[in-house]
Amino acid sequence: MSKVQGRLRIAVQKSGRLAERSLDLVRDAGLRVMKGANDLLYRVENYPIDLLRVRDDDIPTFVADGVCDLGVVGENVLEEARNGGPQAEILMPLGFGKCTLKVATPPSLDYAGPASLEDRRIATSYPRILKRWLESRGVSADIVTMRGAVEVAPRLKLAHAICDLVSTGATLEANGLIAQETVFDSQAVLIRSPQAPEPELQHLLDSIIERMSGVVASQGAKYVMLNAPRAALDRITALLPGAGSPTVMPLSGRDDAVAVHAVCQEAVFWETLEKLKAEGASAILVLPIEKMM
Ligand code: ATP
Ligand code: ZN
Repeated sequence: MSKVQGRLRIAVQKSGRLAERSLDLVRDAGLRVMKGANDLLYRVENYPIDLLRVRDDDIPTFVADGVCDLGVVGENVLEEARNGGPQAEILMPLGFGKCTLKVATPPSLDYAGPASLEDRRIATSYPRILKRWLESRGVSADIVTMRGAVEVAPRLKLAHAICDLVSTGATLEANGLIAQETVFDSQAVLIRSPQAPEPELQHLLDSIIERMSGVVASQGAKYVMLNAPRAALDRITALLPGAGSPTVMPLSGRDDAVAVHAVCQEAVFWETLEKLKAEGASAILVLPIEKMM
């Protein structure tokens, strides 16, 4: 697939677990996405950018080859695609699509560590990651590659164990499997092509990356405002989760209290508000942050 001159391309999953959040990221970065007649390509109305909507497995190659400038993909898929050739560069984790590649076994297999997998058959959709992990543990096993339904392999006697993606663990449990080892921790990542874009598009590319990083940074961040007794200021700022250095301002006509404003990078729970109140804080406001740069 060749590139259209004068336009950037971002590869996103067409449908599946990452599709919606990938589109949200693009939209939150200020790109107005137009659903075109063409299902494969969505145009961005306000910038010379197209979204290429493909299977997630194709995204690492498209980005590595320079067919796309950026891509959103699970780190597990990127890692599985690693083959010694030119590589897409990970720019940042995106905070969604979190899952873990785990080795799981049926109760019939007496599991006492990786050595229990020696000479066993293990079914997986991630043969390369599993192979590297087994090698790092000095275990030699038979890897059976399956595209899907890996979790039924032990029941069908196709394999002794599996290595599959887990998020809640419900699928493992439903299939009577026990999670034993963490092979790879994953989440969606933003990746960039090793190939530079056309020079006149470089500035746009840099600005999209910076905006996306702002979107990710503001996710879950809150702006907290409150009034605090001067005497309790240290204790109160220590309670604000993930706040850098808060802004402290005088309150007109009051020497005993100050206003505190802070960006909290972590969730602000009711429990935190109750503790702040117990320290004497009042007029506590917690506001969502839309953009951050
Ligand atoms: P495609 O049709 O694009 O090939 P797929 O079936 O390979 O889709 P999905 O099931 O949509 O992929 O998962 C996409 C990505 O979502 C995974 O590669 C992984 O990074 C992430 N993910 C998060 N939680 C899970 C989970 N519980 N199971 C599988 N993938 C998960
Ligand atoms: Zn896939």
